[in-house]
Amino acid sequence: MEHRKTNFLDRICSFVFNYTGDFVKMVQFERCQKMKVSKRAQAVPPSATLAVTSRAKELKAKGVDVVDFGAGEPDFDTPDYIKEAAIKALKAGKTKYTAESGIVELRTAIAAKLEKENGLKYTPEQIIVNIGGKHSVYEAMQAVLDPGDEVILPCPYWVTYPETIKLAGATPKILETDRKNSYKVTPSQLKKAVTPSTAMLVLNSPSNPGGFTYTPEELKALAKVLEGTKLIVLSDEIYEKLIYGNTKFVSFASLSKDAYDRTLTLNGLSKTFSMTGWRLGYAAGPLDVIKAMGRLQSHMTSNPVTFAQYAAIAAIEDPSADEIVEKMRKEFERRGKYMAQRLNGIKGIECPEPTGAFYCFPDVSSHYGRNINSAKINGSMDFAKALLEQANVALVPGLPFGCDSNIRLSFACSIEQITKGLDRLEKWLSQ
Ligand code: PMP
Repeated sequence: MEHRKTNFLDRICSFVFNYTGDFVKMVQFERCQKMKVSKRAQAVPPSATLAVTSRAKELKAKGVDVVDFGAGEPDFDTPDYIKEAAIKALKAGKTKYTAESGIVELRTAIAAKLEKENGLKYTPEQIIVNIGGKHSVYEAMQAVLDPGDEVILPCPYWVTYPETIKLAGATPKILETDRKNSYKVTPSQLKKAVTPSTAMLVLNSPSNPGGFTYTPEELKALAKVLEGTKLIVLSDEIYEKLIYGNTKFVSFASLSKDAYDRTLTLNGLSKTFSMTGWRLGYAAGPLDVIKAMGRLQSHMTSNPVTFAQYAAIAAIEDPSADEIVEKMRKEFERRGKYMAQRLNGIKGIECPEPTGAFYCFPDVSSHYGRNINSAKINGSMDFAKALLEQANVALVPGLPFGCDSNIRLSFACSIEQITKGLDRLEKWLSQ
């Protein structure tokens, strides 16, 4: 497997800007404006995952029949009972500021959920509600990292982690993993990676981009390695409910007292309840850190959207929630199995079956070096671009996830779309 460790900002920027058409606008802007852009902002690449989706949308708007495997969100609508709770809150005048960390009723509901489902005891004061899980990640990094700190980031990783680590002044230390171990970190790899400067380990299980899930035993072994160190664990558990087959989910912080004390547990409502547009994430952890996040939030955003917080209480507490979520999970399971099977049936593609989330992350590198319809395929960026332009299939290249050998396909779309898109992919590759 070929990983790129070097700074690939330029390649990603040109890929994204070419796709969104923003490049032209940016050049025009630079010609007529003199206002400077901070070095910090200049160093941040746009999100490559969002770029593919917007290019696919642009083509669709022009009437092109695009199959879109780029989506990072469930294709189900937000369940009605959640919408109704929001409407009720609006009508009851829940339209003003709340406490910056979120209303205590919601933090109490989250505390009860974490205790019942995850075996985690947090008081409502140890919980903060953020403006989406992405904001939870950003704010957590800001609250605990300092310049000079190193953060161990297993590869492949969700595109937002390295950027939020760097924005906090710290340095991501990319930890290579093995495809044979489903890209999961082993205890010996972790042990070797820890240095006196290591401040944090990022864990994301089930993962984006691969849908890889650590077993409880694997997590226990990692927790053991960390004992006696000062490492913080940022455990992003946003895909906890979307697990398949015999996979068991366990919260890292629930493994031991030691794990509990060093962990920031991150989660949100986007994926579980199909609420991506509502922007609701949360963090739970040591009181001092959650208070620090609250102070930052009080200056950054103030509270999460007020009526959305009331809808979140309903989402978590309503007796019908389990059944509705289980229905979505089952459908994702069916699609994930089918997609992985089909991908493995295509020559030169190898795809571990996803055990969670809604992504397949196959290795397609055996096609690199080829010329397809006079497009030279030298990596995942070329692959994604040529496939979209020539066969109208949108997917996300692996490079921004740190893994240029792979591509990411979301199965948050119907079986019919999956069939159609993979038929096109197979035909395109067989040329
Ligand atoms: N963590 C991971 C691993 C994700 O994939 C995402 C969404 N792409 C998030 C957090 C954040 O989700 P949101 O901001 O929509 O709540």
